[in-house]
Amino acid sequence: MAQRIVIENCAIATVDADDTEYAFGHVVIAGNRIESLGAGRAPEGLENVVRRVDATGHLVTPGLVNTHHHFYQWITRGLATDHNLFNWLVALYPIWARIDEGMTYAAAQGSLAMMARGGVTTTMDHHYVFPRGSGDLSGSIIRAAREMGVRFTLARGSMDRSEKDGGLPPDFAVETLEGALAATEATVDEHHDASFGAMTQIAVAPCSPFSVSTELLRQGAELARRKGVRLHTHGSETVEEEQFCKELFGMGPTDYFESTGWLGEDVWMAHCVHMNDSDIAAFARTKTGVAHCPSSNARLAAGIARVPDMLAAGIPVGLGVDGTASNESGELHTELRNALLINRLGGHREAALNARQALRLGTYGGAQVLGRAREIGSLEPGKLADLVLWKLDTLAHSSIADPVTALVFGAAAPVTASFVNGRQIVEDGRLTHVDEEGIARSTRDEARRLARIAAQG
Ligand SMILES: [Zn+2]
Repeated sequence: MAQRIVIENCAIATVDADDTEYAFGHVVIAGNRIESLGAGRAPEGLENVVRRVDATGHLVTPGLVNTHHHFYQWITRGLATDHNLFNWLVALYPIWARIDEGMTYAAAQGSLAMMARGGVTTTMDHHYVFPRGSGDLSGSIIRAAREMGVRFTLARGSMDRSEKDGGLPPDFAVETLEGALAATEATVDEHHDASFGAMTQIAVAPCSPFSVSTELLRQGAELARRKGVRLHTHGSETVEEEQFCKELFGMGPTDYFESTGWLGEDVWMAHCVHMNDSDIAAFARTKTGVAHCPSSNARLAAGIARVPDMLAAGIPVGLGVDGTASNESGELHTELRNALLINRLGGHREAALNARQALRLGTYGGAQVLGRAREIGSLEPGKLADLVLWKLDTLAHSSIADPVTALVFGAAAPVTASFVNGRQIVEDGRLTHVDEEGIARSTRDEARRLARIAAQG
C-alpha cells in the first residue's frame, strides 16, 4: 500500500477548471499522486500515514512550471546589461561558445536550485550551444535535474545559421544541419520518457529564426512528429527579429513558422511579443502554446506580449524565467507578480490580468504548454503530487487577507515545503537533496573559468 502524507490546516488554491479554493482544508498524498483534498481536516482513520504536516498559516498551490530557460547562462549573468536582444546576443555568443560539460553541469545546478527554492517543481531547459568537443552537455543537464528531484524537459536546441549564411551567431558557434538533427534524435532516443509521471522528457528546439536554417526548422519539425515529442523555439521576440524575417523570408515570424510546420498543439514558443491580430488568430486556431517571459522582455526592452488577448483567444500560455543572462534573478515565483504588473502597463490596463489568472499562468498554463496538463498543473485527485506550501503568516504577508492575492501581489513568499512526485525537495526554504553552498561555490568557480577562457579568445 502506498505511503500517505497528510497536509492540513492550510488554505488551498487548486487551480482546477473551476478555480476551486478552500480557506481551510487538507491534501492527502498517496505515493506519487494526490489522493484526495477538500475542506476541513483530513478524514479520520487513514492507514499508512507516514507523516502529518500542520500547514497553519500556509497556502498550498500546484508546483510552479517554468516553460522557458537557458540554464547555461547562470555563469554569464550580469553582462551586456544595457543592450537590446541582438546586441546582447552578439556580445555574449563568443563567451557562450567556450562552455564545456563541467560549466554546463554547474550552471544547471545553479539555475535549478534557484527555481526549486522558489516553488518550481517542473522546468525545462532550452539548450542550444554545443561547441565541438565540449562533452555530453545534455547528459550533464539531465543529471543535475535528477539530482535536484525536479520534473524536467530538456529542449535540445541547435543553431546552424551563422554570420556567413546571414544569421546572427559567429561561424564557430554553430553545428551543421545534419549534425544537429542526428544529435537531437540521439538525445530523444536516449532520454525521452513518454510515460505518465515521467521525470525526464525531450523536445526538439532549434533556437530562433535568425540562428537556424529553414531546413533545420522543417526537418526538426518532421523529426519531432516522427518521434512523438514536442517542439520549442523562440518567436516574435523583438522588432529587429520581425525585420530580419521580412527581409530574409518576405514574411513575418508567425507566417514563417507556419510555412515550416511550426504551428500546432505540440509546439510552444517563447516570448511572442510582436504579434498582430492575425498572428494571435493563427496561434489560437492551431493551439500553439506561448511561454511568457515578462522580466526578460523588460530587461532586453523587447516589449509587452499581448497575454490578455492570447488568453481571450484560447491560446495556452505559461510563464518563463528565460535565461539568467537576461533575467539575473532566475526566479519564477516573482514572475507571477511581474506578469500581472507588466501586462497592466499595456492596453488592457487594470483588466489585463488578475491574481488568479497570474497563478494559473504559472501552474496549469505551464503544464498545458509542456503537454502535461493531464498529470500536473492543478491539485486534483489522481494527478501527480507536485505541490508547494507557501508561508504567508510572517511580516511580509500576514496582513493581506486573501492568500492568493498575498502570493501574487506581495513580496516573494518563502517556501516551507515543496513536493515533486510525492517526494519533498525543499524544506524551510532549503534544498533537501543538494548542497546549496557547494553549488554557490562551483558556479562562481565555473563562471570565472569561463571568463578566463573567453578572454584568451
Ligand atoms: Zn530564451
